[in-house]
Amino acid sequence: MIANANPYDELMEFQRDTEALGEVAGRLGWDQETMMPEGASDQRAVEHAAMSKVLHARMTDPQIADWLDRAKPADAVAAANLRHIRRNYDKTMKVPARLAAEIASTTSKAHRIWAGARRDEDVAAFLPILEKVVALRIEEAQALADGGDLYDALLDNYEPNASGGQIAAMFAALRPGLVELREAVLAAKAPMQLSGEFSEEVQLKLSQELALAFGYDLDHGRIDKAVHPFSSGSGLDVRITTRTSLTDPFNCLYSTIHEVGHAAYEQGINRDYLLTPLGRGVSMGVHESQSRIYENQIGRSRTFTGWLFGRMRDEFGDFGVPDAETFYRVVNRVNTGYIRTEADELQYNLHVMLRFDLERALIAGDLTVKDLEAAWNDRFKSDFGYAVDKPSNGILQDVHWSAGLFGYFPTYSLGNVYAGCLHDALRAAVPDLENDLAKGDTSRATGWLRANLQTHGGLYEPAETIEKAAGSAPSEGPLLAYLSAKFSDLYGL
Ligand code: ZN
Repeated sequence: MIANANPYDELMEFQRDTEALGEVAGRLGWDQETMMPEGASDQRAVEHAAMSKVLHARMTDPQIADWLDRAKPADAVAAANLRHIRRNYDKTMKVPARLAAEIASTTSKAHRIWAGARRDEDVAAFLPILEKVVALRIEEAQALADGGDLYDALLDNYEPNASGGQIAAMFAALRPGLVELREAVLAAKAPMQLSGEFSEEVQLKLSQELALAFGYDLDHGRIDKAVHPFSSGSGLDVRITTRTSLTDPFNCLYSTIHEVGHAAYEQGINRDYLLTPLGRGVSMGVHESQSRIYENQIGRSRTFTGWLFGRMRDEFGDFGVPDAETFYRVVNRVNTGYIRTEADELQYNLHVMLRFDLERALIAGDLTVKDLEAAWNDRFKSDFGYAVDKPSNGILQDVHWSAGLFGYFPTYSLGNVYAGCLHDALRAAVPDLENDLAKGDTSRATGWLRANLQTHGGLYEPAETIEKAAGSAPSEGPLLAYLSAKFSDLYGL
C-alpha cells in the first residue's frame, strides 16, 4: 500500500492534518478573545505553547523534503500546493530553532512591557526591549534573505513576493495627493456629528442583519463580541467578532462589515481547497482588500448608506440626522485625531505610510530605536498638520512592533490600493450596482468578488490574484481617484 502511494498524495495527507491542527490552534486564540474565563490564562499559555511545538515539529519534518523531491504535480492546483508547501518549509528551516524560541519569548515579554508603557505614557520603559525585538527580527531577516533585502524578507511573511521598494514607490505616488486632500477637507465646513445613545442590543441586531446582507454564511460562522474585532478560521468554520459603543453605533456596524469582508473571503474559497494551503486567503494585503471594499467602497457609499439610514430610523427612531444625504456625510466625516484604527478612509493610509517608512528604516539600520519617537513625531506633524500630544497617541499606540510584526503595516494600505483597483473593475462589470445598493442588496457586488477573486484562495500569487480580477496590475491610481472624487464631492472642494 505505502510502496504504491504517490508522494504528492502522501504529502497532502500529512499537510491536511497540519492544516487541521493549525485551525485548532486558531480556534484556541478565538476562544481566548471571546469565551475563555479570565482565570484560565496561565493554562492557556501552556496549551498554546504545546500546540506551537506540535505544529513546528510537523512543519520541519524531514519527510517533507523527501516528498517535495519526489512529488510530481499533475495540474495547476497541485503545482500551487507544492509551491506553498516548499516556500513554508524552506522558510521554517532557515530560521534556527534557538532564534525562533528567543523571538517568541522576547516578543511575549515586549508585549507586556509595551502595555504598561502605553498606560504610563513612558516611552523610555519600552525602548530597551523594542531594541532587542528589532535586533532579533534583523537576525531572522538575515537568515531568511539569502543576502537579499532584509525588510523584503520580513514583508514576505505577510505579502509573499512583494518588495519594500515597490510599495515605497506606490506610497510615494499616493502620499502628496492624500496630504493635499486632507488639508482641503479639514479647511472646509465639517458635517454634523452623531450624538445621543444607541441601544447596544439593537446595534448587534443590525450588525447581524448587515453581516447577512453582505453574504456572511452563519451556518459556517458565528458573531461574538471582543475588545478588538477580528475574524478567524477558514473553510467550514469562519468566525467574526464585533464590539459595541453606546454613543457610536458606526463602530459596531462598520467593524462588522469589515470583518465580514475577511470572513466572506475565507468562506468564498473553492471548497475543493479545504484544509490545503490553497484553502486560505493568499496574503494579508489581499485579505484587507476584501474587508476594505466591503466596508468602504460598498458600505460607505451614498446609495448603501441611504438604505442603512432607513434601517437605523426604523430601529432607533429619530436619531437627530434629518435625511439620507446628511447621514452619508456623517458616516464619512473626516476628523482630526491621532489613532490609526479610528482614522477615516482618507487619512488612514497616511498613518500606515508613516509606520512603513519608519520600520523600513529601522530594519535597514538607517534609523535607531533611540531616534524613533522623534522621527514619528516629526513625520506626524508634517503629514497631519498638528503635533502628537502624548506617546499613547503616537509611537506607543499600536501593538505591532511590540509583537515583532515588522512588515505587517504596509499590507493595510496595500489592501486599500487593491480595493481601489477591484472597485473600478466591479463598477465596470456591474454598471447599475447603485440600484441594488440603494435597496441594501450587495449580492451582485459580493458575487462578483467571490467569482473573480475569493474562489481562487491561494491558487495564484497575491498581485496576480488582484490582476486576474481587476484586469491590470495593481496601482495606486484608482484609489487616489476614488478618494479625490468622493471627498471633493462630500466637502464641496
Ligand atoms: Zn482587516
